[in-house]
Amino acid sequence: MNVHDSERLSGLLENVGYEPAQDLGATDLLVINTCSVRERAAEKLFARLDRFRNRSFEERPTIAVMGCVAQQEGDKILERAPMVDVIVGTQALEQLPIAIETAEDSGASYVDTNPYDNVSFPIGVAKRDDSVKAYITIIEGCNDFCSFCVVPYTRGRERMRPAVEIVEEAKRLAGKGHKEVHLLGQIVNHYQAPDIPECDFADLLQRLQGVSGIERIRFASPHPRHVSSQMIDAIGTLSKVCKHLHLPVQSGSTRVLSLMRRRHTRERYLALIDDVRFRVPGISLSTDVIVGFPGETVDDFEDTLSLVSEVRYHNMFSFKYSERPQTLASQRMSETVQEGEKSRRLTKLQLLQKDIQSSLHDEMIGDVYEVLVESKSRRRDGEFCGRTTGNVIVNFPSVWDCIGGLVNVEILRAGPNSVWGQQVDS
Ligand code: SF4
Repeated sequence: MNVHDSERLSGLLENVGYEPAQDLGATDLLVINTCSVRERAAEKLFARLDRFRNRSFEERPTIAVMGCVAQQEGDKILERAPMVDVIVGTQALEQLPIAIETAEDSGASYVDTNPYDNVSFPIGVAKRDDSVKAYITIIEGCNDFCSFCVVPYTRGRERMRPAVEIVEEAKRLAGKGHKEVHLLGQIVNHYQAPDIPECDFADLLQRLQGVSGIERIRFASPHPRHVSSQMIDAIGTLSKVCKHLHLPVQSGSTRVLSLMRRRHTRERYLALIDDVRFRVPGISLSTDVIVGFPGETVDDFEDTLSLVSEVRYHNMFSFKYSERPQTLASQRMSETVQEGEKSRRLTKLQLLQKDIQSSLHDEMIGDVYEVLVESKSRRRDGEFCGRTTGNVIVNFPSVWDCIGGLVNVEILRAGPNSVWGQQVDS
């Protein structure tokens, strides 16, 4: 979502006459988009700003800070970094061009961290560099307050974008040649259209299926407790909806899930996985896991390992727990797992996941998969790179530039992170 915010911001600034700078040293305007899902986000911001500390107003660019740290810290940023001219929170992105103009005209810092309910965004303004895939934000904010998560504090309360606007944006993207749309929301499957009462997430997928030119639809991230029967049906039956589900579990221990305020249990999560696999045969799954959450015992961690072994995810994003400001965990829970032990657990989990991925990828050898080609390979000339509907990265040689095309690839070799193959006729 942060990446897409930068795309939106680029479009807004180009509309008022800015151009991307090739050289950071020669820029008139520097915008730093911050993300506090990452560790030590505020410290990284101040480290970046430090280079401008001793420069006069005339010698430095106009400096704007946006994103999560801007939202969380607001004008406190000015205490440590008085050279900042503009601070705009996550909900005030659209205000940035006017904020810059106001700050430049007045010579005084401009701060806007106000909440804005309206999550509409002008269609066609975001500047997307990827010609194949395009992000579309459908929900902003979250009301769930998982105890480890900073998002409800930085992104605000959950707000839905009108369905008409989302479908219109998908049509516009198809018209520009994009083949895949990637729907974004903190709990993407909690979608309920504010403009069409009967349009929930499954219905939105159905509407996007009808957009001519769009070949694939992906989404991130759903919450297990909002996976409805209709949503599973939509994944199974709609040809453009990718047969891949990223379903964050965070822990395999029901006790830790309760401490995390995740509102799902190990048992319900596994039952859901069984249901999804039964109704969408061949679907690939991925997840997010946190290790070393306060109170996580060795047995709890073993529960996570056993869940991962049982589900056999195609991919996993795994992290050591670290505190985020304002969260319930940071205010009410003391860290109980030493840093070294967190690292040991993370390494063990990642080795297990690597084995699972390798064996799932090995199972693909000899089969043919439809691949949406995304880019040229960064490693080898003449090689291209794309994804299966299950989100597996496939590399293959091609003598023609097939970016944006759907090609059939027979898998010949496999590694833990991607597979290799050759094009075959359909
Ligand atoms: Fe954060 Fe997701 Fe929990 Fe919302 S549901 S608080 S975004 S982890």
